[in-house]
Amino acid sequence: MPKKFDPNTEVDFVIVGSGAGGGVMAKKLSQAGFSVVVLEQGPWASYGKEESANKDELLNRFPSPEERLLSDPNRQVATFRRTAAEKAVRFANSYGCVVGGGTVTYGASNWRHLPWEFDELSRFGGIPGANLADWPVTWAEIEPYYTQAEWELGVSGQRIDTPYMAPMSKPYPLPPQPQKASGALLREGAKKLGWFVAPNAAAIITQPYMGRAACNNCGFCSGYTCQVKARSSSAVALLPFAEATGNCEIRANSYAHTIKTDGGSKVTGVVYFETNNNNREVFQKAKVVISSANAMGTPRLLLLSANAQYPNGLANGSGQLGKNLMSGNGGGATGLFEQPLNEYKGCVTGAAVLSFVPNDVKNRGFYGGARMTARGQQSPIEYGLGGPHGAPTWGADYKKALAAQTNRKLNMTNFISTIPV
Ligand SMILES: Cc1cc2nc3c(=O)[nH]c(=O)nc-3n(C[C@H](O)[C@H](O)[C@H](O)COP(=O)(O)OP(=O)(O)OC[C@H]3O[C@@H](n4cnc5c(N)ncnc54)[C@H](O)[C@@H]3O)c2cc1C
Ligand code: SF4
Repeated sequence: MPKKFDPNTEVDFVIVGSGAGGGVMAKKLSQAGFSVVVLEQGPWASYGKEESANKDELLNRFPSPEERLLSDPNRQVATFRRTAAEKAVRFANSYGCVVGGGTVTYGASNWRHLPWEFDELSRFGGIPGANLADWPVTWAEIEPYYTQAEWELGVSGQRIDTPYMAPMSKPYPLPPQPQKASGALLREGAKKLGWFVAPNAAAIITQPYMGRAACNNCGFCSGYTCQVKARSSSAVALLPFAEATGNCEIRANSYAHTIKTDGGSKVTGVVYFETNNNNREVFQKAKVVISSANAMGTPRLLLLSANAQYPNGLANGSGQLGKNLMSGNGGGATGLFEQPLNEYKGCVTGAAVLSFVPNDVKNRGFYGGARMTARGQQSPIEYGLGGPHGAPTWGADYKKALAAQTNRKLNMTNFISTIPV
């Protein structure tokens, strides 16, 4: 039986959010003997019974609230403005909102940051309009933790000694995913252009590992849960170990809205709503509160926790809370090929061009770089609704174009480095 704590019992740690960050904290702290309560606003979804994971594309698009995997932009509303002078407007943003957070449905690309990304301010100087800063940790300090994470989670990939990839003190524990047609075409094209290509590094196990089965290349990957637990999500690679200690309770459907303090410098616990119980308010006592509610949820919670002593929110001595968002941005292009590509199989991407990853302000004339990945994966209904290229949107010619193009499409998707603004 998983551990249950009474909210009036002061636990050592309350962790808000059970995703990538929360899962690591829950596992490590409970294994060290601390009592831990994880508050997660999302439901359990298929946690612990992944074999019955939903692979129905329509049900996945229009899920019941209990089966929802991503946040609902109408419930978890986000707004955006470019400058403080602008009026903030709503924008559609979804993140993993379930026990395991974003890692339950993510594409699982798992690249390390490169050493120079840790001290960009010192290396490149400031950038007008951006709030560039060096990280408070160095590459040398963090490298052993990358290694530990890759081995404890189960990451597949190939160590290659090149300036385009971060140095590794130990190889990946698992070999890379099989090459897809998109990867083979990418390699061919890149060779002609002299670009460097590497197999994708992914938190997806390619061989049985730590009691889990290898990826069976089902093809319904990013956006879906993994029915064989091959995707090394927080929900299968971290939280079960935390629960197994008997020191950790994961409380789903629990939306944290205020961190309370004692009037001095100490927290006393977290007030949350039981979202499946008429939003009943509960106060969970804790010695320490960790907010790992993602890049938007954490500043939101800390700002909502403002009180007489901390009118600008908790942990905001710098005045920087809620600013400097670095979003994951991308660009892309699509091509149609003569040959069938069978890209509907396997996980999202198998290979990436790394030649443009390094920042090269001097020669390029602008900040930042990009990792270019080849992928064709689109599920049938998604493809049908998006429509074939250069064809009518209905009728016989639409069907003909759909049949001709669906299996011949390849996307190049680029993940671009962003600056804090
Ligand atoms: C479809 C998809 C594909 C992606 N593909 C990739 C990829 O290939 N590679 C990659 O590196 N990244 C990818 N990402 C991004 C990646 O999932 C996130 O960067 C990562 O999960 C962030 O970890 P986190 O712990 O900060 O937050 P999350 O994993 O987002 O976890 C935060 C958790 O906190 C919960 N929460 C938030 N506010 C509250 C509150 N007030 N009370 C209680 N709970 C709360 C949320 O419900 C969520 O479960 C993808 C994301 C998605 C959605
Ligand atoms: S492609 Fe592999 S990792 Fe992705 S959901 Fe299917 S079995 Fe899991």
